Amino acid sequence: MSVLLLLSGPSGVGKGTLVSHVTQAHPEIWVSVSATTRSPRPGEVDGRDYVFLTEEEFAHMREHDELLEWATVHGQFHYGTPRGPVEERVNRGIPCILEIDYQGMRQVKKVIPEAVSVFIAPPSWEELVSRLEGRGSEDALQRERRLETARRELDLSAEFDHVVINDDLAVASQRLHEILRAGR
Ligand code: ADP
Ligand code: 5GP
Repeated sequence: MSVLLLLSGPSGVGKGTLVSHVTQAHPEIWVSVSATTRSPRPGEVDGRDYVFLTEEEFAHMREHDELLEWATVHGQFHYGTPRGPVEERVNRGIPCILEIDYQGMRQVKKVIPEAVSVFIAPPSWEELVSRLEGRGSEDALQRERRLETARRELDLSAEFDHVVINDDLAVASQRLHEILRAGR
């Protein structure tokens, strides 16, 4: 089986930035596009960043077993991994990254125990707050919700196979790629 990497970490820690670094250097890696019921941020493209769905469309996928995992994140929106595209890549031996939260990680680990989970941690709480603010993509209420979720997520980091601190981007990207290569 090819490596299936489950990448989690608080909003604003730099998961998206890290994944684009790693895939630029290693274009053979495939990154799953999640489905979500939240609205697109400015600049986000449907089908590239997420598949943006209505509640009804999401429920339809869920009921037809078309999601490998799904969860309610930030107490508000639904997010899930479309099953077909992941299974297809795994069957072809292509290394895959799923950027999902800890609830999704637990679900995938139950059905695919060989999947490797990685928690991306910030160098400090202050740096996480500053990155989230610096990104400027959420209003104060949405940032607050994300930071509430982040506190809970940081407490769960020990559940993951690996913890990578995203301090220096180049060092963290290198570490992530090493984990992908090692497979466990
Ligand atoms: P996530 O996908 O985890 O929500 P992003 O990739 O959107 O996070 O990153 C959040 C912000 O932090 C962005 O503005 C990004 O440029 C910045 N960032 C990411 N990694 C680093 C790093 N190692 N050092 C400093 N800033 C970073
Ligand atoms: P955002 O709204 O900031 O793009 O994403 C919020 C969080 O949702 C991400 O940090 C990630 O943990 C989680 N997430 C994104 N896609 C999925 C998914 O497909 N499944 C699960 N379980 N969580 C996801």
